[in-house]
Amino acid sequence: MQKIRDFILGFKSFQDQYFCREGSPFSELREGQSPSTLVVACCDSRTDPSLIMQCEPGDIFVVRNIANIVPPYEPDAGYHGVSAALEYAVLSLKVADIIILGHSSCGGIKSLLEDSARGGEFVGKWTSILDPARSQVMESFECTDERAAKALEMAGILTSMGNLLTFPWLAERVADGSLTIHGWYFDMACGQLFSYLPQTRSFEPLAPRCPARDKE
Ligand SMILES: [Zn+2]
Repeated sequence: MQKIRDFILGFKSFQDQYFCREGSPFSELREGQSPSTLVVACCDSRTDPSLIMQCEPGDIFVVRNIANIVPPYEPDAGYHGVSAALEYAVLSLKVADIIILGHSSCGGIKSLLEDSARGGEFVGKWTSILDPARSQVMESFECTDERAAKALEMAGILTSMGNLLTFPWLAERVADGSLTIHGWYFDMACGQLFSYLPQTRSFEPLAPRCPARDKE
């Protein structure tokens, strides 16, 4: 309960120092939103995209799920929460960018690598979207160590980037140049952000390492 009390105090502070202050972005945002970017991030409590990227309210439209996965286009009778969010972001909000934001030490990726979530009702089925990426990674790594996890975390981002293009109305926007897809990786061990570069087929730093981590 202590944490819940802290959250309520936090909201009061947000009201005073943010929502009600002069020039607050909410004076305009009350009328509606027009975020420029959709972010697909993990549920992990350490990887809040608004905090990591220091966004203002209204900047980003966010979908969070286990292991920041975009499923393939499957217009069937199932309930597709991520696909619904994609549809709204791309067709109604008309975002200009989509960021798949992966991260290090991802529990969802670790469970997939170790096969430990297969017994669960939902997690194993969900992360099985990355089974082909897992098979590829396992060809290069003999054990399920940290290096293999990092490789699968990054391969998962690429799988999701590819799955985005299976949505026909999304692929059309990419083809006409009005939408750009980015694959980013937050490494919380060194406090660095990487982006996938198709030219080099590798993840390159977008910002230098955290100086405090360099001293260790
Ligand atoms: Zn994660």
